[in-house]
Amino acid sequence: MKNQIQLITYVDRIACKNIIELDQLLTNELDGLFGGVHILPFFYPIDGEDAGFDPINHKKVDPRLGDWSNIKKLSNSTEIMADLIVNHMSADSVEFKDFVEKGENSPYASLFLTYDKVFPKGATEKNLLQIYRPRPGFPFTKFKLADGSQKLVWTTFTQKQIDIDVFSEGGNAYLEEILAIYQQAGIKMIRLDAAGYAIKKAGTSCFMIPETFDFIDELTKKARAKGIAVLVEIHSFYKTQIEIAKKVDFVYDFALPVLVLDTLFNADATNLKKWLQIAPRNVVTVLDTHDGIGIVDVASEGDEDGLIPDNVLDNIVNKMHANSEGRSLKATGAAASNLDLYQVNCTYFEALGSNEVSYLMARAIQFFVPGIPQVYYVGLFGDENDMELLAKTNVGRDINRHYYTKEEIQKKTASSLFEKLSQLMKLRNTHPAFNGEFNLEESSAKYLEIKWVLNTESIQLKMDLENKSFEIKGAANEVESLLMKV
Ligand code: BGC
Repeated sequence: MKNQIQLITYVDRIACKNIIELDQLLTNELDGLFGGVHILPFFYPIDGEDAGFDPINHKKVDPRLGDWSNIKKLSNSTEIMADLIVNHMSADSVEFKDFVEKGENSPYASLFLTYDKVFPKGATEKNLLQIYRPRPGFPFTKFKLADGSQKLVWTTFTQKQIDIDVFSEGGNAYLEEILAIYQQAGIKMIRLDAAGYAIKKAGTSCFMIPETFDFIDELTKKARAKGIAVLVEIHSFYKTQIEIAKKVDFVYDFALPVLVLDTLFNADATNLKKWLQIAPRNVVTVLDTHDGIGIVDVASEGDEDGLIPDNVLDNIVNKMHANSEGRSLKATGAAASNLDLYQVNCTYFEALGSNEVSYLMARAIQFFVPGIPQVYYVGLFGDENDMELLAKTNVGRDINRHYYTKEEIQKKTASSLFEKLSQLMKLRNTHPAFNGEFNLEESSAKYLEIKWVLNTESIQLKMDLENKSFEIKGAANEVESLLMKV
């Protein structure tokens, strides 16, 4: 994977009718900003209940966006990351409908994870209470089969997302087929969506158990053999994340978004610096994504402290809500139909109080900490919450999933915030020192100083948190260095 910034985007929400237009956008308006793109689910259909994370046909590009040849063409000019939705598929899939029709006689019967496969002798109360889920309720849905019998099926997410038995012959073949299609289409990286939930075993939490690691390991080997790297998507206690990182190609640094808020809100980089000393280096960094801002990633677990003391964390969450003038509250937790109650739904820009200097400081930190940075399309434009879309759908995450028009993109790309952010991004993409050694310089809590060194090249970020300013030293020329003073 290139050590350059990647865009995270839906095709149709960034004013592109299809993949060909996304290709054009990346080479024209967004030229030089991205070395790669994580295209959020583009499979059939893109507009299911979980915005594409509930594919009816994972092996087909939604015809409204194009086909695999468009993906292949795009892969010639930019690195593409695609989701591999390992845990589930839509209840409207041909496979599941056939199972409902024919039950055990369906050729797809082995593909789905039924309750009795995990609990052949039935489950105890303890078994059921042990299952981890980021919201109340149990991960099962009752289906009536055509012969009148009833079946309990695992549905970790919504009742229309049917869990796959990934260890079954059918499950295994399904995932291998998708991998083969991806290889053909030139996809260089997969994001193992919701991988932590993929394996269920009686008597465990059914989340990130040893068998899950084995599964990820196996899948990673298969992907690597096809020249595809693997990013594992898991929100968890930070120590778990550190352990996972040792075993896979890449994990997200999901602790960073809240640590950056902590640093900027409290003008104190102590917690962030501690994290940077122990954080895995094989990471993809984000401040914002199509999901909410993860809280479990920095919080305590049981008796163990988190990366941020819980009372400080509470204040950070409250401040995000206050900064967004209460808008994020309307989209978070039980207020809207959320899959994960432990995420705050808000654009990162509003979480920071819509303050451009704070926003540029946050991005500068992201680009200087170790990892491949990703910038979400709404974050690229430093944008506000979409209350209209939220009201229309009552899907909490839609607050940060705006549908842009071409005119809006034109306006956004002409803004001074976009201009400054672009400069930062181009610097991150081109300065050779970012391929060198990372140094967290000694400084007091009110300052953050990071330096990258490669042979004679170096680049340094010096941030004064109290005075809300930063400068970057070592940019290619004087003018650039000067412009980097915020
Ligand atoms: C994705 C979510 C999705 C969930 C279920 C994830 O973690 O990022 O957007 O709703 O998996 O597929």
